[in-house]
Amino acid sequence: MDSHSRFTALITVDIQPDFMPGGPLAVTGGDEILESLGKLMGSDGFGLLVATQDWHPFAHISFASRHPGKNPFDVISLYGQDQVLWPDHCVQGTPGAALHGALDWHRVSAIIRKGMDPAVDSYSGFRNNWDSEGKRPKTGLAGYLRERRITDVCLCGLARDFCVKWSAEDAVDEGFNVTVIWDATRAVDPSSDEKVRADLEALGVRMAVADDLL
Ligand SMILES: [Zn+2]
Repeated sequence: MDSHSRFTALITVDIQPDFMPGGPLAVTGGDEILESLGKLMGSDGFGLLVATQDWHPFAHISFASRHPGKNPFDVISLYGQDQVLWPDHCVQGTPGAALHGALDWHRVSAIIRKGMDPAVDSYSGFRNNWDSEGKRPKTGLAGYLRERRITDVCLCGLARDFCVKWSAEDAVDEGFNVTVIWDATRAVDPSSDEKVRADLEALGVRMAVADDLL
């Protein structure tokens, strides 16, 4: 890491049992990234550690179970935007919603909980998805990072094609230099990898592997 590392934040996205193999919204290979996440979180190469945590109220609008006749992974129109319907996951206070027990979270300065509005989903750590007024309300993460003098963010976690991607896009939009630690992410749909990577690179997001940063 270079001498500017104190201005770099590591953001771990949604490292929660419900997204791990065996969970209701399992991301294939999600558990394979835990070892390198542990190394990244233990490294001195980052000035700040932040975690996002998917944290839904019971019967959240993103749950297929809320929509009669619909199945998980169906796509509906919600407030004029596509909304993927998910299996029930990360319900507030349940064990599956906890930050994963295999990692040491004590150096994490801030935990940004998202998806708490019963009627709005949230993939990004920076902003909710669209609400009924067509807006994407902010979580406050960008302001927090700026007040901590962070200029660069490195993203890892789950899932590559949803919460990591959306967080990376919003981080660019907020003016941060953004790196995705590609091998420390896994996708819901690995067939989207090429497009996810190309979309992010087109925005100026740098792709790295964990070993580059350790
Ligand atoms: Zn969710």
